[in-house]
Amino acid sequence: MGTQTKGFCKYCGKEYTRSGMLRHLEACKERKSKLAMETYKRKCRYFQIVISGKYAKAYWLIVEVSENTTLKELDQFIRDIWVECCGHLSAFTIHGTQYESCPVTDRFWGEPSKNMNYRLKDVVNVGDSISYEYDFGSTTELMLSIHSCREGEKKKREIIILSRNNPPKILCSNCEQNEAKWVNPEGYCEGVPFWCDKCLGAENEGEEEEGCERQFLVPICNSPRMGVCGYAGSDRYPDLFEPDKR
Ligand SMILES: [Zn+2]
Ligand SMILES: [Zn+2]
Ligand SMILES: [Zn+2]
Repeated sequence: MGTQTKGFCKYCGKEYTRSGMLRHLEACKERKSKLAMETYKRKCRYFQIVISGKYAKAYWLIVEVSENTTLKELDQFIRDIWVECCGHLSAFTIHGTQYESCPVTDRFWGEPSKNMNYRLKDVVNVGDSISYEYDFGSTTELMLSIHSCREGEKKKREIIILSRNNPPKILCSNCEQNEAKWVNPEGYCEGVPFWCDKCLGAENEGEEEEGCERQFLVPICNSPRMGVCGYAGSDRYPDLFEPDKR
């Protein structure tokens, strides 16, 4: 999955790769006219943040977040769209400091860690790279980069998705022809992690030896946590990002 995935621009629906999208968002006419309608009576800054899988770089999100958003709210968003399976711990690391979802306050282990009740404006700046970990056992590692910042009308705090990678096409590792629908997390070592429905059917008719045991299968989903700890995708966000206009 080293292929460069593309995604749609929220405003005009054009399709670009991650780096192409970052350039496009600065020039997008639809976006410019939308922003020109803001009133600027009360202002605040918005950070544009690129979130990607540290290793699974095919997965990326470009979001716009008010400077008043807390790390906790950002954590919740990441959980909702990409990683939440069964309420594991998570942490951001910013300039060497850890901000944890459930901080250790026992001084015995050294400096107590910080919680996530910090506003972005107090902990990040444009150009910063932040690392994020979800689940300290089967960890999903993400990188967040604070790409840019703009001033705009102060609104209810929310995280706006400007673009998101379209689901990468993953081929069945058995037939290498059909699009895979299922991932077998145990199958990575045997080299057959991905399965299409057809091969699964054939497999299940024959004597069940090696290959693939159905109870371990989880659906393919558009997330760097696909298949980890039974993660089966978000129930709040569809895998395919729908732009405002297409
Ligand atoms: Zn656009
Ligand atoms: Zn889990
Ligand atoms: Zn197949």
